[in-house]
Amino acid sequence: MIKQKTNKESGLVIEGKEVSAISGATFPVYAPADGALLGYAARGDAMDADAAVKSARAAWPAWANLAAGERERILLKAADALEANRERLLELLIDESGSAISKARYEVDFSPALLRAAAGEARRLYGETMPHDRPTRMSFVVREPLGVVACIVPFNAPLALLTKMVAFPLAAGNTVIAKPSEETPLIAVEFAKILCESGLPPGALNVLTGFGAEVGAPLTAHDGIDGVALTGSTRTGQIVGAQAIHKMRALQLELGGKNPLIILSDYDPQEAAAQALEGAFTHAGQICMANTRIFVERGIAEEFLAALVEKCEGAHLGDLRDERTLYGPVINQAALEKVEAHVAGAIAAGAKLLTGGVLERGLVYRPTVLLDPPADCQAWCEETFGPVVSVVVVKDLAEAVSRANDSEYGLSAAILTRDTQKAFTAARHIRAGSVHIGAHAFQSNALAPIGGYRMSGIGRSGGRYSVEEFTETKWISVEVGALPIAASDARGLMLSPSFDG
Ligand code: NAD
Repeated sequence: MIKQKTNKESGLVIEGKEVSAISGATFPVYAPADGALLGYAARGDAMDADAAVKSARAAWPAWANLAAGERERILLKAADALEANRERLLELLIDESGSAISKARYEVDFSPALLRAAAGEARRLYGETMPHDRPTRMSFVVREPLGVVACIVPFNAPLALLTKMVAFPLAAGNTVIAKPSEETPLIAVEFAKILCESGLPPGALNVLTGFGAEVGAPLTAHDGIDGVALTGSTRTGQIVGAQAIHKMRALQLELGGKNPLIILSDYDPQEAAAQALEGAFTHAGQICMANTRIFVERGIAEEFLAALVEKCEGAHLGDLRDERTLYGPVINQAALEKVEAHVAGAIAAGAKLLTGGVLERGLVYRPTVLLDPPADCQAWCEETFGPVVSVVVVKDLAEAVSRANDSEYGLSAAILTRDTQKAFTAARHIRAGSVHIGAHAFQSNALAPIGGYRMSGIGRSGGRYSVEEFTETKWISVEVGALPIAASDARGLMLSPSFDG
């Protein structure tokens, strides 16, 4: 379905209402698949960021003091409302983010699941007690919401990541301001409206659409926020992270990856190729956990590469609503140019192009496999964020793990082998936030800790790990006084008469 030119405008969401930017400015939103104009989004700036922060601050005390069960109820209701709007959100994801239907479906199904998982966390803001050094004092630890959290969201999974980034802070009693990518503002506004209509109090969730430098930066630098969560590129993470550290705000960063997939020679080459294909090329490789570096053991290398090339060449890259379509366009022209530059650079540096390296049409680039790119070329050491995978042949597991760890990134990793001891050896030695055995590196789970080592970020998101990021930890100690030991030990003091029978 190609959208016709439209004058449809979407606003910011502040105080539970959809409003225009204070300046009145908007920007056009195009479908990456065919360039169709999908509408205009409000172009927020520092004035709007200020209004959103005021709204979130005003809403915070009541939201934080709501009974946990009430926050749970509202989030569960929001999950039902998202499901009721599933088809509309699915269409918008396909149009606005260029998602193939399979990937769009994954997002619309995962999003309510995330809200439900977060709803459960509302009741689990557990603390702990600990023995105090002085016997007349008690010592315990409680968790308290931070206050107002700014959530900066990337374009690649604009519904699932947005949901994850706002749901857990909300469950923990924070109010939230989300800043979606300038590439995907419309889905974020739809999401927020659905949540507001399902009972979230005005101001608990605000959405600022617009550009990073114009509205993201004033939001993350605002004195009125207490924490920042950003999922995005490492470069943006460095900028936003430096600001947050300067102001000593809570900070959680989920950034880029250059994720290894290790394939040992005991694995079936066809199955390995199927895993490699899905892990590297879902959403045209625009997935932070895409396994873009493959290490294959010599014994299986030839058969694996033949199978991978065959699958790539057979990949259907048709209409986004066609179930057979593996993936669609990259997000914009700049993204395509980066893909082309990385491939050309790798070939010029000596990599062998096994398949791909060409455009299918528009912003759709064929699945591309590079063999043996030099370790210093961009395709090997930087995030391409496109449908490009690099393969090297290794002599054994030790070489694979050592080369896998030779990266600035450490987000996700995977190993395909039938040998459990080797699989666990790899899992213990790979330096990454997650390691998956018997499957590719793109895995998600609402409760699992997602995050990375080194340049892949700071902190973890998902389940109780998110709650820890978005709560303060407070130690409380209290003087309880002392009774004579004989009195506190007396049976009559400790048990009620009915127990005495
Ligand atoms: P990006 O860094 O360009 O933008 C992310 C968000 O930051 C956008 O909303 C953007 O407007 C905003 N932004 C940009 N400059 C800003 C500033 N100065 N202040 C405040 N906000 C600013 O990333 P992208 O291209 O949207 O997304 C792709 C990147 O996200 C990839 O690097 C990918 O690996 C990463 N990512 C990581 C994870 C993870 O879980 N680790 C998940 C998805 C995507």
